[in-house]
Amino acid sequence: MQDYSTYIQYNEDNSVKVPFGRAAEWYIANHPLLKNRRLKCQSRQYTPGLVKKGIINVERVEGAVDFVEWTTKVGKTKSTNRVDDILTLTSEGHELLMQINAKEKRDRLCWSWVMFCAGDGNSCQRVCGGIGKCKEGCKNFEFSNGLKNYQDMHLCQVRVKSEVHLSSLTTSHPLLIEIHGTHAPLNIIVNSTPKIERLNLLKSVRDNVLLSRRADHRSAKGIKSKLLASMNGANEGTLSQALTNQRTICTDNKLKQLVARDDRRLKDHVSSWTILHNLIVKNLKPKGYILYYQQPNLSFPEDSPQRFYQLTLSDEFWLKNTRDYSQNCIGIDGKYDLNIDHVPVLSIVAKNNAGFATPIAFGKKFTFLNNFSKVEIIYHILYTIYIYHILI
Ligand SMILES: [Zn+2]
Ligand SMILES: [Zn+2]
Repeated sequence: MQDYSTYIQYNEDNSVKVPFGRAAEWYIANHPLLKNRRLKCQSRQYTPGLVKKGIINVERVEGAVDFVEWTTKVGKTKSTNRVDDILTLTSEGHELLMQINAKEKRDRLCWSWVMFCAGDGNSCQRVCGGIGKCKEGCKNFEFSNGLKNYQDMHLCQVRVKSEVHLSSLTTSHPLLIEIHGTHAPLNIIVNSTPKIERLNLLKSVRDNVLLSRRADHRSAKGIKSKLLASMNGANEGTLSQALTNQRTICTDNKLKQLVARDDRRLKDHVSSWTILHNLIVKNLKPKGYILYYQQPNLSFPEDSPQRFYQLTLSDEFWLKNTRDYSQNCIGIDGKYDLNIDHVPVLSIVAKNNAGFATPIAFGKKFTFLNNFSKVEIIYHILYTIYIYHILI
C-alpha cells in the first residue's frame, strides 16, 4: 500500500484534512483505533442533492472500478459512494462559491458521512454501555445480533466522520476527517484483537482484484497469488498485521464471493455497460485511445449499423507502426472467450515489412441480435487510419 503520510494535514483538535483520492482510505486504515477493525457506513449526506442541483460533480479516483451505477425508475443516476471520491465544482458551483466568498451566501456542506466500527468479535462497548452484549433493558436486547437494521451503529461507539464544505472544494486538503469514541473503556484489559470475518479489503485492493478479474480473466486462485505476491519480502510483523486486519489479503472464500459478485454485476447489462461507458468517456477518450465508439440505438431498423454497439481501441504506438512499417494487408480475427459476456473482441492486424503481423487496433462489437458483420468495423478502422495518415 502506497504511503500517503505526507498528504495528511494534522489539526490541533485531533481532526485531519486530506486531499481527495486515496489518502483518506490510507489514513483511516492506518489510524491506531481503526487498524484492525472493519468499518460500516451510513449514507453520504448533501452530495447527491448538490449534484442534482448542478452545483458539484462526483468523479472517481483514477483506477476505481469497484462501484456500481444504476438508474432509478424516475431516471435518476445513482452510484456507490467511495471515500476516495473526488468532488469538483461545476461552473454554476464556481459562481456560488464566489457568492459564498463575498459573504452573499452561506457556506454549506457538500459531503457529510459517518462510518462506524462494525463491532466484530463482540468485544466493543455498545451504545447502551454493555460490552460485547446488550444491557438488559436496552431496546436492541431483543435482536439476536443486537442490531435493528444493517446501518444500526449500536455495537460500538467509534465513529469516523468526514465532511467537506463548498468553500473548501478548491483547497488542497478539502476533506475533513474526525475520529471519535473508543471501542472499549480504557480500564478494560483486552487480550486479543477481534477476528474479522467479513470482507474487509481496502477499496484500492478491491479495485486491483476486480481489474485482474475483468481484464486478465484471473481465477480467484490466481488473484490470491497476486495479492500474496504483494507481500513478498514483508517482515513477520507486517504479515501478521495483514492477516489480522484482512485489508490487503483475505480468505479464499471471501475472495471467491467477491469475484462471483463482480461477475454477476458485470453480467447485469445496465451496470457493466454504464461503467464501461464512463470509462470510455472520462478516461480513455481524453487519452486518445478510442478510435471509434458507438452506443446502440435500437430505434433504427434491424441490421442497420446504428443498432450495433461498437468500440475500437488503439494507441499512437500501434498506429505509427502501421503507418511506418505496414504493407497494404489487413487481417481481422474475432475471439469470443476473452470476457464473461462472450462479446467478440476483434483484433485488427496489418503485415509489416518484415512479414510479421502487427496490431493496429482492437475492437468490440456486438448487438443484442447476435448478428454482427466485420465489414463496418474494418471500414471505420480504414477510415481512421486514413485520417491519421493525413494528420501526421
Ligand atoms: Zn444495547
Ligand atoms: Zn469497536
